[in-house]
Amino acid sequence: MPATAATDAVVGPIALLGAPGAGKGTQAKLIVHRYGIPQISTGDILRDNVARGTELGKQARVVMERGELVSDQLVSGMVADRLAQKDCERGYILDGFPRTVAQAEWLDKYLDSRTFGRRKLPPVVINIQVGYNQLLQRLTGRRSCPACGRIYNVYSQPPRVDHVCDVEGASLIQRKDDKEEVISERLKEYERRTLPLVEYYRRQGRLHEVNGELPANQVTEQILKLIERPAVQAGSND
Ligand code: AMP
Repeated sequence: MPATAATDAVVGPIALLGAPGAGKGTQAKLIVHRYGIPQISTGDILRDNVARGTELGKQARVVMERGELVSDQLVSGMVADRLAQKDCERGYILDGFPRTVAQAEWLDKYLDSRTFGRRKLPPVVINIQVGYNQLLQRLTGRRSCPACGRIYNVYSQPPRVDHVCDVEGASLIQRKDDKEEVISERLKEYERRTLPLVEYYRRQGRLHEVNGELPANQVTEQILKLIERPAVQAGSND
């Protein structure tokens, strides 16, 4: 693994793209650990709003349960609020955003008016590629701990005791939208709305691709190499 980056390094925005189940959340958590910058998962923020019954949550709930995408306007507004917080000053990992071309265009405009340590930094866009069958197995097998957020997979990474978190001892839960009937809709929505976004970045020469079928630590290594290059450049201008 590359050498540990300074914890006060300016990393800038990182955007993780990939189909549902590609491992964006898992990889984002590993990068958080490494750089001390926040993971901004639009899915997590939306689920939190649904659980708390906020106005935003009420608008998003039905759409999410169908496996469709929440409106660009709602999600972009939510992201703008989150990125304005102090912990985002050195950078952040966008997990699940942008997901449409409109969201990517919004992000470019937003970043054009922001600086990281006095510099404008475009997002490092990383697409985690995983084949369809592997995605299906990951999504249907995914369980998480409601207490610590740790993610398991009943097929490939089961807990020591069935249905119970190794660390917290809490009963594991399955996301409502990881049920089989919703999964196929989410994957269709990915093809319809998010694949054009991947093309959008690729056409502009801004897309980095990593093989998401490798073991998680090897995927992380590929990602860190992509992140560290701009992190070093940013630091070297000081
Ligand atoms: P995720 O946890 O990233 O799989 O997201 C769960 C659900 O939240 C998605 O199926 C969408 O309904 C909604 N969602 C998350 N991120 C976005 C986004 N960037 N744009 C629109 N909807 C989103």
